[in-house]
Amino acid sequence: MQIVTSIAAMQRLARQWQHAGRRISLVPTMGYLHEGHLSLVRVARRQVGKTGKVVVSIYVNPTQFGPKEDFSRYPRDLKHDLKLCRAAGVDVVFAPNDREMYPVLECGDTSPLSKRRHVGAVQNFSTYIVEENLSKVMEGAARPTHFRGVTTVVAKLFNIVLPDVAVFGAKDWQQATIIKRMTADLNFPVKIIIAPTVREHDGLAMSSRNKYLVGDLRRQATVLWCAIQIARATVKKLKTFPASKLKVAVKKLVECEPDTRLDYVEFFEPDNLSPVSKVVHGTQMALAVFVGKTRLIDNARL
Ligand code: AMP
Repeated sequence: MQIVTSIAAMQRLARQWQHAGRRISLVPTMGYLHEGHLSLVRVARRQVGKTGKVVVSIYVNPTQFGPKEDFSRYPRDLKHDLKLCRAAGVDVVFAPNDREMYPVLECGDTSPLSKRRHVGAVQNFSTYIVEENLSKVMEGAARPTHFRGVTTVVAKLFNIVLPDVAVFGAKDWQQATIIKRMTADLNFPVKIIIAPTVREHDGLAMSSRNKYLVGDLRRQATVLWCAIQIARATVKKLKTFPASKLKVAVKKLVECEPDTRLDYVEFFEPDNLSPVSKVVHGTQMALAVFVGKTRLIDNARL
């Protein structure tokens, strides 16, 4: 497995692969890898076969974090990530630093995780890709500059890794939908695959941020999965149910725990994220919940 940190070297390698007729599959991540990420790697491998190349990018992208969010605290363990990638048969880990991805970031501060560097990235970088429709709701409403950072870094990664296929997790349903739209709108020659959410035994969706759930918060975090199950059971039993009433029921359920607070719950069409007034079989549900100070998201098809 090769570890590449420079954009020029990654592009050179990708061009060589293209000339040799190898298909390239990309799995973009922010690292601190878990079984959810590794399931995407397996999907990526299946897409390009033994002769193809699987690239995992590991980069905590500052431009997708708001100034008050957990950018500097976000868990990182590159050494362990590399070990997992090696065992999973990844061909290349692309792990650039901020200076490589956002070169105008220079602000005389050498600490990679300082607030100043983060602000520098957000303030000095000036060419963004903005999806203007799907990005306005749910996560986009709660985190106003988040998807602008996501679409921009993914577009950069597409230009650096030159993939034929890119794999994203259904865990971040809105993100995957926005990436699909961006890819179509901007004619990136990349096939977008959405792979299923991998869960812990008790239903909690795997996430790097689960590391923040200490003590009883880990147990309380299962309310997201409970809410999904209640919604599923409701649809199964009643066939159709008013979204407004189900939202009230979900809020009540989520906030039964001492340290949980519902940020939002939405019921919508899976492909265009349009809200529905009646929840039926096939409706997509998404919710965001604060568990202590940690904000978790989850979603599912009902
Ligand atoms: P992240 O490192 O959190 O930015 O996630 C990188 C990719 O892994 C994204 O496409 C996520 O949707 C996906 N992912 C994260 N958690 C899971 C999970 N539990 N199951 C499946 N995919 C996931």
